[in-house]
Amino acid sequence: MQLGGYIQALAHGLDIVEQCADVTRAQLVQMGAQPDFAAKLMGLYEVYFGDTMFRSRQRKARRTRHDVFTLLDIERYCSKLKARKAWELRQLLAATPREKIPVVAKAKLKEWRPPRDPAPGVRVTRREGRNHTLSITDSSFNISKLLAVLKTTDADLLTAAHTVFRGGGGAGQKLQSNVIVRLDELDRIVDGDGEEIELQLTNGATMTGAEFVREKLADVGLITLVHPFLGPVNLYMASRFANSKQRLALSAEHPTCAWPGCNAPADDSQIHHLTRFQDGGLTNMANLVPLCAYHNAVNDDNPEKPTGRGRMDRIEGRVHYLPPWAGPPIPIESPAHPPPARTGAPPPDAGEPPPG
Ligand SMILES: [Zn+2]
Repeated sequence: MQLGGYIQALAHGLDIVEQCADVTRAQLVQMGAQPDFAAKLMGLYEVYFGDTMFRSRQRKARRTRHDVFTLLDIERYCSKLKARKAWELRQLLAATPREKIPVVAKAKLKEWRPPRDPAPGVRVTRREGRNHTLSITDSSFNISKLLAVLKTTDADLLTAAHTVFRGGGGAGQKLQSNVIVRLDELDRIVDGDGEEIELQLTNGATMTGAEFVREKLADVGLITLVHPFLGPVNLYMASRFANSKQRLALSAEHPTCAWPGCNAPADDSQIHHLTRFQDGGLTNMANLVPLCAYHNAVNDDNPEKPTGRGRMDRIEGRVHYLPPWAGPPIPIESPAHPPPARTGAPPPDAGEPPPG
């Protein structure tokens, strides 16, 4: 075979691949192919011409003009995904110019594959002539316990860490946070079924039901039992750590800032009045919600200073985010009635603050 013919043949990738229909891998090897290249060709045949649930994507991917080696490159990227996503990527890359494939593929893999959980451990980064870094990776619960030890003094965390490492300070300090356990979960934990139950702590960490049992309850701090349907029903204090019951119950309902998608821990949040205090809103459970400082600031509850960012409200017992086009706050005189249908244009008098 002439060199030009060989190169030309490989350049029409799918023409070559399609001809594998009538041969076996062994026959390819007999023809002179390296065994692993023969296997790869047969693999490409399976992908582009074999049986699949994703026939439409397969048909579209077959329009590709890529050469054999590019097709093999594409498979390297697709092998990192499950079938459905792999086909989505394959179809995309089949139509992507060859030189752009690595960039496009890496961007998609980054988007679709959850970042790998860093392994627990202690690591040191040593930089020549500059500061070094000692980092600890562990479960969120264990990290929150270590952090609690450092936070027991007024010293900054670095000074506190020096004290602890020298063997002083902090030892035996209790974790000052609130664990939220739903009653149905507690039953399962007591039955020894706790490994797969994830409990939320109000300091932003999580722990499994099994970790919860291993920690003596008093070492955890506060435990809030939450009825699965009715919300916080009771507070139990297992240490002397004092806080307002309202704040605790609120952080049980919302372990993080209540704004959608925000993960700021409730412990670091501000307690926000859904109906402003100056508008007659009461400081009672139904009117309170934890918001981080940022979302408390952008929450659109002051008619004189619209932020255009939407706001939080409680509708039929549950806290909801209302987008900016949802209209102004409902007057609080009618809490017993379901909220009126909200459309773009506010009713003429809805913006009025209630009397008093
Ligand atoms: Zn927030």
